[in-house]
Amino acid sequence: MSGRLFVVSGPSGVGKGTLIARARAEVPRLELATSATTRPMRPSEQQGREYHFLSPEEFQRRLQGGEFLEHVEFAGHRYGTLRSEVERRLADGSNVILEIDVPGAREIERQLPDSVLVFIAPPDVGDLEQRLIGRGTNSPQDIATRLRIARSELEAGTDFRYVIVNDDVERAASQLTELIRAALDEETR
Ligand code: 5GP
Repeated sequence: MSGRLFVVSGPSGVGKGTLIARARAEVPRLELATSATTRPMRPSEQQGREYHFLSPEEFQRRLQGGEFLEHVEFAGHRYGTLRSEVERRLADGSNVILEIDVPGAREIERQLPDSVLVFIAPPDVGDLEQRLIGRGTNSPQDIATRLRIARSELEAGTDFRYVIVNDDVERAASQLTELIRAALDEETR
């Protein structure tokens, strides 16, 4: 038996993490893959929990060893999905969820066309800016870079099969949960 891969994408600060946490609380056997990154750890984060934090050399070594399903450079740092976080779980019948940027989502779709891609959109770019500022974890320069990337991601996101607008977290979380449930039901039919 093989599990289903869900890819949740959308601009930085849109609330992907919160919506995924809500969906995971509702849907059994939905496991979040921990990505690897070279970006510095934030004070609230822990090694191996939010990310596998790697040095640039270690990231490159693993890349050359074929350990990534996809990898990108985002706002000056590298991020990638480790095969070890995804492949065995899917083979064992668990469902896996990835929280990644738009180019990464496209690459996953190319490699694993059965994946379910979901784009989370903000109500508008001003809302995204307020969230990034409110989060208090990014420097003004980093926020400016993330907003610039967000504008192009928003254009690309309209092509996704599923788009959820995160204007109300309760409603958006139940939409994501229902979408996942429907995809899993379809599977067992
Ligand atoms: P942050 O620095 O805020 O944790 O993440 C920055 C962006 O990188 C977010 O949009 C996040 O979803 C994305 N991201 C995190 N991990 C991965 C990954 O493994 N692959 C790709 N392509 N993007 C990732």
